[in-house]
Amino acid sequence: MSLEDFYFRDTCRMCLSRDLERILELTPTPPGNDFVTKAELNITQACYPLELYFCKNCHHVQLGHVVKPEILYQKDYSYVSSTSSHFLSHLRDYAKYIVDRFQLNKSDLVIDIGSNDGACLKFFKELGMTVQGVDPAANIADIAIAAGIPTIADFFSHSVAKNLLFEKGPAKIITSHNACAHIDNLDSVIKGVKTLLDDDGVFILEVGYFYDVFTNIWFDTIYHEHVDFHTVEPFIALFKRHGMEVISVERVSPQGGSIRVFVQKSPATIKHDDTVNELIKLEHDAGLNDVSQLLNYQKRIDQVRDDLRVLIDNIKQDNKLIAGFGAPTKATTLMAHFGIDGNDISFIVDDNPLKQNLFTPGTHIPVLSSEYIYKKKPDYLLILAWNFAEPIMKTHKKYLEEIGQFILPMPKPEIINSLN
Ligand SMILES: [Zn+2]
Repeated sequence: MSLEDFYFRDTCRMCLSRDLERILELTPTPPGNDFVTKAELNITQACYPLELYFCKNCHHVQLGHVVKPEILYQKDYSYVSSTSSHFLSHLRDYAKYIVDRFQLNKSDLVIDIGSNDGACLKFFKELGMTVQGVDPAANIADIAIAAGIPTIADFFSHSVAKNLLFEKGPAKIITSHNACAHIDNLDSVIKGVKTLLDDDGVFILEVGYFYDVFTNIWFDTIYHEHVDFHTVEPFIALFKRHGMEVISVERVSPQGGSIRVFVQKSPATIKHDDTVNELIKLEHDAGLNDVSQLLNYQKRIDQVRDDLRVLIDNIKQDNKLIAGFGAPTKATTLMAHFGIDGNDISFIVDDNPLKQNLFTPGTHIPVLSSEYIYKKKPDYLLILAWNFAEPIMKTHKKYLEEIGQFILPMPKPEIINSLN
């Protein structure tokens, strides 16, 4: 690890205050997606701090240590969005909902920041809108362009926005799905949005909701790619600094744990509704504006770790074999903080072929295809992709009936030996 790999940010990303307090310290990890090949196994991977800081001024929660994007994103094992039919139907419904709610006219301009393969814009285009994507991944932008979705292969910034305004005119809708939590320089993005947005246009950003991460102990969504852990209240201060205002917020169910924030330039042309104040009240009731309550988060996480350790250690005393199911980025955080390594788990299976035959970041556990469950017959399968536990257990009912039992690590460690 060299000092140039990351830096410590001592100002709040939302309000620029320096009044930050550390509320959570997780075990340092390598970049959560930095799987290695067999040839790279003898190279020690650098681990970076994973600590959350709370801004006492605007109540925003954020990572203190920011790892450089060149280090975080050098390896990418993600599928493009169009591969999940469930996700596609979510996007189709979303496009229709936005066109109806804001009464868009044919050929109004809709821009998507972090547009991926153009999956979302495709549905806006089908509804008659003019569309434009912006995505930094050149290979994925090419897929979008080939599918008829104009896409700029670049990070969205103020200068990209100025060029787009010159070429296409102001946008009625600018959307962003789960891109904003990855961006260290949020100010440049918001400045660009304000430049490009029409006076009666709406900026809609979808981000993970820290309220859900906090109340459900979903701490393993904390990894270096996510620099911000958003709640509604800090957005008010952020947008106010830029002459914009939040007019409405909603919680989004399909992926679980997200909010959709609707923003306009000041003065807003659409009336504010009660949702903003309702969610801020929910956040305050949960203690998200209170350092002492936030400091409790560490104890709640460490209790899950201690319970899971007892469960795993008991199984190991009986000389039983444990394997893992799923190698998502979040598993790197979970395994590091819970102290789970190759002494506990012999191998991990994952259905993503791009990860198979590689080794997990830091812990170097082999990742294999799910057939290996039936070849090696482990006594227990620890579900690391626990947010997909239901479909995983249903798909591998045969394992449960004929071979072994599942272990659910979160939110409370438990052994599952039958499906209801
Ligand atoms: Zn702040």
